[in-house]
Amino acid sequence: MKKTLCRACGAPLSRSFVDLGMSPLANSFVPLDRREEGETFYPLHVLVCDDCTLVQLAEFEEPKNIFSDEYAYFSSFSSSWLAHAERYTAAMIARFGLGTDAHVAEVASNDGYLLQYFVRRGMPVTGIEPAANCAAAAVAKGVYTEVQFFGVATAREIAARRGKAALMAANNVLAHVPDIHDFVGGFREMLLPQGVATFEFPHLLSLIRFNQFDTIYHEHFSYLAIGPLQRVMAKNGLRIFDVEKLPTHGGSLRLFVCHQGAAHAETPAVAATAEEERAEGLRDLERYAAFAPRVVEIKAAVLEFLIAARRAGKTVAGYGAAAKGNTLLNYCGVGPEFLSFVVDRNPVKQNTLLPGTRIPVFGIEAVSERRPDYLMILPWNLREEISRDMAAIRDWGGQFVVAIPRLEVF
Ligand SMILES: [Zn+2]
Repeated sequence: MKKTLCRACGAPLSRSFVDLGMSPLANSFVPLDRREEGETFYPLHVLVCDDCTLVQLAEFEEPKNIFSDEYAYFSSFSSSWLAHAERYTAAMIARFGLGTDAHVAEVASNDGYLLQYFVRRGMPVTGIEPAANCAAAAVAKGVYTEVQFFGVATAREIAARRGKAALMAANNVLAHVPDIHDFVGGFREMLLPQGVATFEFPHLLSLIRFNQFDTIYHEHFSYLAIGPLQRVMAKNGLRIFDVEKLPTHGGSLRLFVCHQGAAHAETPAVAATAEEERAEGLRDLERYAAFAPRVVEIKAAVLEFLIAARRAGKTVAGYGAAAKGNTLLNYCGVGPEFLSFVVDRNPVKQNTLLPGTRIPVFGIEAVSERRPDYLMILPWNLREEISRDMAAIRDWGGQFVVAIPRLEVF
């Protein structure tokens, strides 16, 4: 067997964190006219580095098309995420005293959901986004966007043409990059000497505490915590000077990063967060072994619920064809015989089949037409919002279900 090396420190990896078996790519929805064709499954096995404790996906034969033109997710579909972006804009301008001449860059800028708020303040912006369809949507909003993958070479080239940046943002992308050093090194190349970069990502601590194993999928190479990232930043001439906790994606961190020699003073939150990770066992390799059995327990609970519902003649549908749901359903081996259909607001996903499980995806109206007895909310991080929006299922005695952090009917 080929030995995988840690993407942060280069040590050989051998310690398993959780093995979810074989799974198709979570965002490769199957068009109805391709239902007779096969799908490729890849191992979904997560390891933890004995040396630096970075939790990461084991190497698999990497498909080239993960972030291709077909990448279906547009950030602006979520109103709560737009509100989050607008608050960020106001907070950064106030805290770092950014004037209208301050250059703001975002890596993985998607459809311009964030930079549009800086444009409205009259500030020069640069979006960097590899998915051409997302970039085109950003340009239509007046957000200057480069269609590129980010790394050291791209950063040097963009900085030479557009100037260095006073503020750089990277939201929910650090976990998705295969070469973490080349990516982080790009911030060193593109930040002004006193510039600030912020990185948001789902916190490994929340994944472990709240059994969020369904946030594991192939596009998600690393599962991040502040401990291993302090080493990654240092290796690239950068340092973490502040950290904030965010409720997004079930519990995220926002790191504030600057050049090692910059004047930003380190806040007590950095050491406090590192200490919290240590207290929870994130530096203690033996404690990682406790996670995998909890994942098996959730699978058992999901199957017990679905089998009991079927035996009782009840119907179950799903809400939200997100990557999370695909990991959960594939790992649990749940097909349309147990979960008859899933609804999603995104028209790109409607009238397709979920990868692997082949559960049909319909528009939201399918719920009121077919009146399922249970509606399983797959993006559990939005359970409040979704159960409010879909409260009409109560009219026919319908109930909601979530599987994470544990199976709950409500
Ligand atoms: Zn390592």
